[in-house]
Amino acid sequence: MSDIIQLLPDHVANQIAAGEVVQRPASVVKELLENAIDANATEIKLIIKDAGKTLVQVIDNGKGMSVTDARLSFERHATSKIKAAEDLFQLNTKGFRGEALASIAAIAHVELKSKQDQDDLGTAIVIEGSDVKSQEVSVTPTGTSVAVKHLFFNIPARRNFLKSDTVELRHITDEFHRVALAHPNIAFAFYHNGSDLFNVPQENYRQRVVHIFGSKTNEKLVPVEEETEVLKISGFVGKPNFSKKTKSEQFFFVNQRFVKSPYLNHAIKSAFEGLLKEGYHPSYFLNLTVDPKSIDINIHPTKTEIKFDDEHTLYAILRSAVKHSLGQFNIAPVLDFEHQSSLNTPYDYKDKKASTPAIEVDRSFNPFADETRVKQKATSQNTRFKSAPTASWDGLYAGLESNENDLQSDFSQVTFESEAKDASIFNDSAIETTKTTFQLQQKYIVSTLKSGMLVVDQNRAHQRVLYENFLKHITIKEATSQQLLFPLQLHFTPNETKIIDDLKADLEHTGFVFSELTEKEITITGVPVGVPESEVSIILEQLISDVENDVPDTNFSAADLLAKSMAKSLAIKNGQSLNSTEQEHMVNSLFACKEPNVSPTNRPTFITMAVDDIEKKFM
Ligand code: ADP
Ligand code: MG
Repeated sequence: MSDIIQLLPDHVANQIAAGEVVQRPASVVKELLENAIDANATEIKLIIKDAGKTLVQVIDNGKGMSVTDARLSFERHATSKIKAAEDLFQLNTKGFRGEALASIAAIAHVELKSKQDQDDLGTAIVIEGSDVKSQEVSVTPTGTSVAVKHLFFNIPARRNFLKSDTVELRHITDEFHRVALAHPNIAFAFYHNGSDLFNVPQENYRQRVVHIFGSKTNEKLVPVEEETEVLKISGFVGKPNFSKKTKSEQFFFVNQRFVKSPYLNHAIKSAFEGLLKEGYHPSYFLNLTVDPKSIDINIHPTKTEIKFDDEHTLYAILRSAVKHSLGQFNIAPVLDFEHQSSLNTPYDYKDKKASTPAIEVDRSFNPFADETRVKQKATSQNTRFKSAPTASWDGLYAGLESNENDLQSDFSQVTFESEAKDASIFNDSAIETTKTTFQLQQKYIVSTLKSGMLVVDQNRAHQRVLYENFLKHITIKEATSQQLLFPLQLHFTPNETKIIDDLKADLEHTGFVFSELTEKEITITGVPVGVPESEVSIILEQLISDVENDVPDTNFSAADLLAKSMAKSLAIKNGQSLNSTEQEHMVNSLFACKEPNVSPTNRPTFITMAVDDIEKKFM
């Protein structure tokens, strides 16, 4: 018998592949929008006719294609985005398969026009069902336009299978939302049958969410920010009382790619535990940034599924970040779009009159006065805090009791393993009276509790203490400064002085006094009490770089950032040894804080280990 196996002709193979890539007009929309983004466009126009059945066109101002590339782009597995298998593990682009244009061209009429910036003329290609009908020189702006007409013209079964225009348009709108949400820094316009459905400029993330979901969305957004070594989270969750019966406002983006992840969705739901009515779903718009090496998006051609290397860690971080934000929201004032900058302050100092601060300032008190030169920095920071009369373990306990709603719930989040157990450590009425502290690796302060052990991260703890203190000063505007003997002149670039100028009022509230602020030069005559002159330039430089890294975010709150930045600059570093008075003082100051359990950047400041757990380890 003769051989019967044959290789399929290309156009047949393309048609089969097309079935996977292109299910409906919305799939074309997604592929074309992603190509435009991969081409670094800053403006993208989407033009649709008859829910995409007649026309899907995407016009971008990206980098365009050369004459040869334009032709090659329609070949199967033709891509400029990866060259070798290794590249799959560090993808920074949406596309990588080189299948989309070939697949689309196999089942539609495609007209592509493209021009690169350096060329005077571009190229225009017409393809129908994989047949190149023409390629000509064309007068066209820099960028690319791809028009896809008569989708499925050669697969009637597929064409008949398409749903009503309303349904298909909804799919298209969903795709558009996902792409537009993931890229607030790109301007998008979307037209259907000649009327414009969306027209959004380059903007920040909050504005983008509000533009897409309506101005009422604004008041319901609670910012979520978290940064750890493995993961950066930013975005918003909806306040629980705005939760919806549908899941239409649930968006995860991983490295700016929309993904569906039931597992991470569960992490969020569990963070909302107890806050949602039966049958309601939380809204969320969250951007996760991870190392491209740690994910695999290659498991499905339409690429909304994703595999993470370390799902469990992501789950835990995500859940606690969302929980934390929801917790803050309970005490934070309503977020207001117009006045965003001042509103991300986690503590409601407006009500300050009603409650006395837990720590009082006593500038003459210096618990480390006998310390040597090496520790001077730490010393000067701590002089600003007087040990409150109750600042001891009893004080910690008293604090917990008097402020149950706030603090207790915070403490219950601290745990690693068993929440109930750790919370009980702090409820234990007989907290060890003869406590001993010691320092581990000049990094942790270890202390005993009656029912276990406490390990405090000295740097994070000090950051928390300083942060709350600075924030208090900035917000209630009552810091004192120490006059410098000689004015300090610092030189910066105009951009940098602009940043300082913008923050001037807040800086003054911490105790800085500026005598002159020009484009290139800043003259300082006073600094916050306890800040050594030698640290001033470091603080300001740190501040500038923090602002530069953070500013595009709407939730940027100058006061909060300043407090965080200064706390980071001034906190006792790891590797610094502390004597027992200093250790104790640090622990006490930490637990006198409003939110002792996390550092200003949301990392745990301490861990506890119950005797029970220790016992288990010996079994
Ligand atoms: P992929 O995006 O997976 O690489 P596509 O079939 O979508 O595959 O595109 C093939 C190639 O065509 C891309 O790798 C890119 O080089 C080029 N291309 C497609 N669309 C555009 C565009 N809008 N602007 C510039 N180049 C494009
Ligand atoms: Mg592509």
